[in-house]
Amino acid sequence: MNDTVECPYCGHENDMSDGLTDLSSDNKFDHECSCCEREFEVEVEFDPIYSASEIVYVSCEKCGVETRDPAKKGSIFPWPQFIDQNTLCRSCFLRAHQEEYDKC
Ligand SMILES: [Zn+2]
Ligand SMILES: [Zn+2]
Repeated sequence: MNDTVECPYCGHENDMSDGLTDLSSDNKFDHECSCCEREFEVEVEFDPIYSASEIVYVSCEKCGVETRDPAKKGSIFPWPQFIDQNTLCRSCFLRAHQEEYDKC
């Protein structure tokens, strides 16, 4: 993030790192240029906006491997009937699924 803003009067690069602490609700504040000492208005744009979510690892109930993308009973249909675990890694799930398929 660029923490400096150019003074509209004299072009001096003012350090804004302190200004953000008492930011008003409309994201604007007045700042006095540290060079020419004239006040100007600074508008802060919080951009870009990132959103984040937790990465949750669960253990496969069959082989114990940790996976971010498990096959879960209740979210996958049809869940093969002979699988008595509720959470499997993808490879265990596919293997089990294949076994069931082979029985038919
Ligand atoms: Zn200035
Ligand atoms: Zn597994």
